[in-house]
Amino acid sequence: MDELTADGHGEFGYLTTAQWRSFQWAVSYSLVLVPFLRDAGNYSISVDEGRTAKTEPALGMPATQIAAIEIESLAGELRHWPDLEDIANDTTGWQVAIDFTREVQTAAHRWPMEDKPHDVEDVRCTHCGMIALVYQPPQVPGDETVVRCAECGQVEDDRDFAERLAIMRDEMKRLRHAS
Ligand SMILES: [Zn+2]
Repeated sequence: MDELTADGHGEFGYLTTAQWRSFQWAVSYSLVLVPFLRDAGNYSISVDEGRTAKTEPALGMPATQIAAIEIESLAGELRHWPDLEDIANDTTGWQVAIDFTREVQTAAHRWPMEDKPHDVEDVRCTHCGMIALVYQPPQVPGDETVVRCAECGQVEDDRDFAERLAIMRDEMKRLRHAS
């Protein structure tokens, strides 16, 4: 893996340390958040500025679905770079990273998930290849996230983020073709 270069304006490419950490968090969190938002949309439990789902027009798309689509769309743009370091080092990539982070943070704040571990469905462990990842939500947004494999006990680390992003991309592609 290439080391981060120091030729950008921030400490991690064009990103500051805080932005870099938030971006990594957003990539990790989005893997669980996007399916959550999709499900929330299906059940129309979205809370939108006091409006209840019951009053939502039949053809209206739940706000959770819109958020999921926006996050997926930005994740799609991130696929132009091979890994997260390249994104941080790219003159346009870092801006996509900032946008992506902001969308994930906004959605995470607006629709907090249960403060319980979630099984990460359809995503294989990068160590043993089993579908057994369990996501431990952070106590506060921006806090450390832990994704541990229930089969081999390994924790997914920063090096796995790019791979996870690739898996998410494949998943998105599959869903798009299925719909
Ligand atoms: Zn494993």
